[in-house]
Amino acid sequence: MNHDERERIVNYVCAQMSQKRFQHVLRVEEEAQRLAIHYQIDVEACRYAALLHDVAKEWTHDQYEAIVLDKQLDARLLDYGSEILHGPVGSVVAREMFGVSDTVAFAIYYHTIGHAEMDDVAKVLFIADYIESGRDFKGVDLAREIAYDNLDKAVAYKLQQTIQFLANKGVVIYPETVVAYNEWINR
Ligand code: GDP
Ligand code: FE
Ligand code: FE
Repeated sequence: MNHDERERIVNYVCAQMSQKRFQHVLRVEEEAQRLAIHYQIDVEACRYAALLHDVAKEWTHDQYEAIVLDKQLDARLLDYGSEILHGPVGSVVAREMFGVSDTVAFAIYYHTIGHAEMDDVAKVLFIADYIESGRDFKGVDLAREIAYDNLDKAVAYKLQQTIQFLANKGVVIYPETVVAYNEWINR
């Protein structure tokens, strides 16, 4: 991606969110690039996905709902809390405003909920978002270690931790997340 192209994305993304979250986005870009180089995965695609992954994170539930209905996204997305909607909505924005590839749009769509069939770019975003240098939760150092040793195992670890975290909170879990867990836990 050339300088102007990156500037156009960065300026738009920055205007959609707080400074704090924007800094998270830049750290995810950095981590995604590092992972992509480490595993010889398309660096450019991983950076596009990282820069745009949370573009809709601070939009309202009404904005999410309007896009889900207008673009005929899976209506079940509306039944699991607002949090899981910024990925699917973000992927629509990334595609329509910046013409990202199917691969990048897929990675953004599933970066929160995960998917049984994540490809390399989707895995990189899923994990970069989880372990970027600003993250500080119990187990993050182990997650970072696994991430640079075996990307698939890192995906399994994140799904296991996320499902545990959500079940402990007693909130509903999007079915695709459980399907993804079942798939990745035995790979
Ligand atoms: P962020 O956007 O950088 O903060 O990271 P994520 O896109 O991974 O969003 C994480 C949030 O989504 C956390 O608050 C999780 O609790 C929430 N989340 C992830 N999966 C699910 C799910 O299946 N159901 C619900 N209710 N929340 C989820
Ligand atoms: Fe997110
Ligand atoms: Fe994020």
